[in-house]
Order: sequence, then C-alpha cells, then structure tokens
Amino acid sequence: MQTENWDLYKKLLKDYSMEYSYDGISGERLASRLHALSEIGLTESGGSRRLGFSKEERQAKDLVISWMKKADLAVSEDSAGNVFGRLEGRDPDLPALLSGSHVDSVPEGGHFDGPLGVLSALEVAEAWKEMGYQPKRSYEVVIFTDEEGARFNNGLTGSRAMTGEIDPSIQSGLTDQEGREFAEVLADTGLTEEGFYKAERNLSEVAAFVEVHIEQGVRLEQENLPVGIVSGIAGPSWLEVVFTGSAGHAGNTPMGERRDALVAAGEFVRNVPDIPVSVSGTAVATVGKLKVFPNGANVIPGRVEMVVDIRDIEEETRDEVVRRIMKAAENAAALYNVECTQQQTLKVKPVPIAENLKYLLREALESRRLRPVEMPSGAGHDAMIVGHYLPAAMLFVRSKDGISHNPAEWTSLNDGVQGVHVLKKYIESMDQ
Ligand SMILES: [Zn+2]
Repeated sequence: MQTENWDLYKKLLKDYSMEYSYDGISGERLASRLHALSEIGLTESGGSRRLGFSKEERQAKDLVISWMKKADLAVSEDSAGNVFGRLEGRDPDLPALLSGSHVDSVPEGGHFDGPLGVLSALEVAEAWKEMGYQPKRSYEVVIFTDEEGARFNNGLTGSRAMTGEIDPSIQSGLTDQEGREFAEVLADTGLTEEGFYKAERNLSEVAAFVEVHIEQGVRLEQENLPVGIVSGIAGPSWLEVVFTGSAGHAGNTPMGERRDALVAAGEFVRNVPDIPVSVSGTAVATVGKLKVFPNGANVIPGRVEMVVDIRDIEEETRDEVVRRIMKAAENAAALYNVECTQQQTLKVKPVPIAENLKYLLREALESRRLRPVEMPSGAGHDAMIVGHYLPAAMLFVRSKDGISHNPAEWTSLNDGVQGVHVLKKYIESMDQ
C-alpha cells in the first residue's frame, strides 16, 4: 500500500526557511514527525486513513507517546484512550495548561488536520526542554481520541468523554459500517465501554486549553497570513423541514388545483441564503440534503424532506437565524397551500472565544510581527467541546486552497513553524 516515492519530509523541507528554527523550535523535527505520522495509514493516493479506534490511530498515538517520553513528558492515558504528556510546572498545584488535537482522520484525509495541532503542542515542550525552561504551571500535550467520528458518524468522542459530555444511551447504540457495535470496537483497542463512560476528568485540574489547527478555509490565504485567531467556533443547528402537499398525476391535475410540495420547498430554499446575512456577519445556512417523494417524473411531489444546517459563533444570533428560517418555511408553505412541519434535530452550543484570551493571542501574533486577523471556525473541533467547560482558544494555520479532508491537504512548514512560535508565546503569556 506504500505510495511510490512518498517523502513528506523532503517535500516539507523543500521550501522551508531555516531562519524560523530558533528559540528551541525545530522545523526539521516538526517535518520529520509529520512525515513519520503520515506513513501510518498512508493510502495509495497519498492520503491518510486512520479512523477512530483503529489500529492505525493506536499506532499514531504510540509513536507520539514515544516522542513525548523523549521530551521528558510523563505520559498517561485515560479510559477513553485520550493521551496526556505532562511537564510538571514549578508550581504543580496550579491547574495545568493543555494543548493538542487529534491523530485520527477521515477515510481519505490529509496529513495536517489533527497531527499539526498535536505536534505543535509537543514542539513547545521540546523548545522549553532545549532552552532549559520550566513553566510555572504544568503543561500537558493532549491527543484526543476519535475527533473525526468517521467510524461511527458522530465524532469529538475523546473530548466529550473527558468533559463528561457523552450520553451512554446514544453512544452504546452506535454501529460502524461493518455493523459492529461500539463496545465491540472498543474491546479491540483494549478499552471497555464501562471505563469509557467514566473517563470524565476533574476539570478543576485544568486552567485552559488551546488548539492549533489547519484553517480548512481560504481566509488566511486571502489575507496573506500564516496564522490567524479563531474568533469563535460555530455551533451547528440542524432543522429538519418537511413540506407535505398532495401527490397527483402530472398530466391530469390542473395547475390551479395543485398542492406541490417541491414548489413550496423550492421557494423556501431560494430564500434561505438571504436570512443569515440579515442577522449576523458570521452566520451561515445551507440546505445540503433534500428528498422528494414519490420522486417520479410524472407525479406531482407530495412530500419533500430536507435538512437546513445553520451555524454561528454566538448562540443568540444562531437561534435568531433558526427562527427566521422557520418563519420562511411557514410562509412558503402558506403561499403554495401545503403543510409544513419542522424539527430541530441537532443543537450544539457555539463557543465564542473569551476577549481576554483573544487579547493574548493578538499579542502573541504581534510579537511575531504578524497582523492579528480573526475568523470564525465553521467546523467543530475538540476546542469546541472543551470550550463548553473551560477557557479555550484556537489558532488557525493557513491551508493551501482551503482544501481539507483530502489527500491534497497542504500546509507549508514555514506556516506550521510560525504557528508553533505563536502558540509558544501565547502559552507563556497564559502561564501566570
Ligand atoms: Zn481536525
């Protein structure tokens, strides 16, 4: 399964400016580790396949653990498989600072989504070791289990287990594509379901969390910046909308007597894009899934089901968008004399990043002579889950063409190393 001439290390170093390797931070080390991780679950198209709870995810964790030990971190693992590499602070009784991400991937993913965050956090510990610096607070590099959720179609599993946000009645009922139950898959990795639900950590031991992640968008590219500040993590809300009219023969029903569910749905879908912008500059709404019944060429559609995905970084504005979209659905139904029912099937609380944390992030960027630009994260991350309970912040690193969850995912080593410098500066400013 080895891709010919695969050498991420060489590819990364090709355009690297060695001037970024200082203060104990090493671009070569970061590149060699990104390369070593990329070889675990490498696909024929040069992508990454390390599903949550797979042997590849385990191998990737074990490899990072070996590096954590080399960096003199004390390694522990909780009963959900989350890995922590801890550097004891000068005042070990103070709550610790945490940074990290995940090492699992989607079935045909890239080599930066997740690993860059884990290795950036580890690089900070390496840099301190090299400079002989011991922080006041303890510092932990964390690998969260199964962030992508590619196996069981849910995700953020490790961070939800650590914060006690797992609902055992839902989790235990999940099956993967092969029909295997969650408990069965867990057993393969040496974990138990019972232990998994008890992985909740005493969060008073933690002061704050910060995650470095590739942007998965094009804003930083447009701004010509290597690193940016995440202003907030959008919480998705899913609204299931069903229009019900009456199915009838396409030839025999006069136009004036129709109750066409798809015409009403079409009117509604056409209006959705105007709604988020009327509420907030960061809100978005998408109809990406739609089913027509009975779906025959010569039958008037009697029923249309769709899901509207609505996101914003503030709960209040997100919910206002939801209300306006619900109203638009009712209006479209009334206009075409059909029925409309609506149900919110998913509602995740958005995480706005606290102003004091953003202030320190801005300072960290400015110390690198980088213009501090803020952008929302439309996608969910472990920082979103942790941010429901603890002060959490995120830094985005530029992704080429915004491509992600794809073998073509790319972040230059210059940008990655700039991200480590900013992260280190930020953590040091949090270490009070
Ligand atoms: Zn990720």
